[in-house]
Amino acid sequence: MNNRNSKTPVFLKSYDKTKYRYEKLKVCKKCNAFTILGDTTCPNCGKPHLIPVEEQAERNAKHAMHTTVLIAVCIGLISILLSSTLLQMVLCGIASIVLIGVLWIVQRNVLDAECLRALDKLFHANEKNVQDGIIHDYKAAIDNWDTDKQRCYEMLREIGTLLHNDMIRIRQLTLLQAFLLRKDMDLELEPLLVRKYEPVLVEYIGELAKIKRDLIKDRTFQYIMAYEPEIMGQEQGRDILTAVAGAAVRMKHYVRSYSGLVRRYAYNLPKDRFLRLYQMIEQYPNEDWGRLSEEVMRIYTEKYQWDPDFQQKGQRGHTI
Ligand SMILES: [Zn+2]
Repeated sequence: MNNRNSKTPVFLKSYDKTKYRYEKLKVCKKCNAFTILGDTTCPNCGKPHLIPVEEQAERNAKHAMHTTVLIAVCIGLISILLSSTLLQMVLCGIASIVLIGVLWIVQRNVLDAECLRALDKLFHANEKNVQDGIIHDYKAAIDNWDTDKQRCYEMLREIGTLLHNDMIRIRQLTLLQAFLLRKDMDLELEPLLVRKYEPVLVEYIGELAKIKRDLIKDRTFQYIMAYEPEIMGQEQGRDILTAVAGAAVRMKHYVRSYSGLVRRYAYNLPKDRFLRLYQMIEQYPNEDWGRLSEEVMRIYTEKYQWDPDFQQKGQRGHTI
């Protein structure tokens, strides 16, 4: 945090969020390799045959349906050929056409469900291939660790959509700490929360608390509170905890849920954050703030009693 000058300015590519995690996965039509990186060129065989897994599943589903229609056509033809009279032949022909027609309508109606089933089947049949593909992607990303940190981070961020473990999260956090972070960057926080106390994550949270407060939500507050003693022992730990308490002041729900944290660091909050907290407590006097309201009033009396911003806004708060 104190070494912002040693950080690299970067322009990170925007990150496309998908509804389902698997949507980022692609499969090679040629060698059946899976990857989460790359647009069309297969990292395994080098051929431009990558397609999204959903597209492959749709192809598989349609292929199975066409086979069923083909079987129906064959049965129809055989029954016509085996007919002994012209009437029988005509009846078999009509029955076959009706059967194929009904089959076609049914298939059209169940196409979406069949595609999902085909996707499920595709994943089950290729579990090992999917795993190998992601490991291959991870190695390719780490190859850039020393030479192109930005590319390495962008690759890990994509892989992180499917591969959820603390090792990949800590790698991403370490890279993020090498960058000069800005408000306009497409950053994320909750997917990067790790299970244990991790100083690099705490530092990242501290920076976000200053530049992108809206990313700090319940799970992050809970993480910070769980490791508060460890964070206190960390370099600039108190500043980070104060910045996080300042982020909680953003919403009444956070102040109420983490009132202990806010109370412990309220004294050092910047004036604008404290003013917001003060107004919130004033505005909802019947809310159960615990010992927070006492502490806020104490700080107000000690530091801001004669501050015109507080007088003006405080009075307005009373009249609303
Ligand atoms: Zn391939």
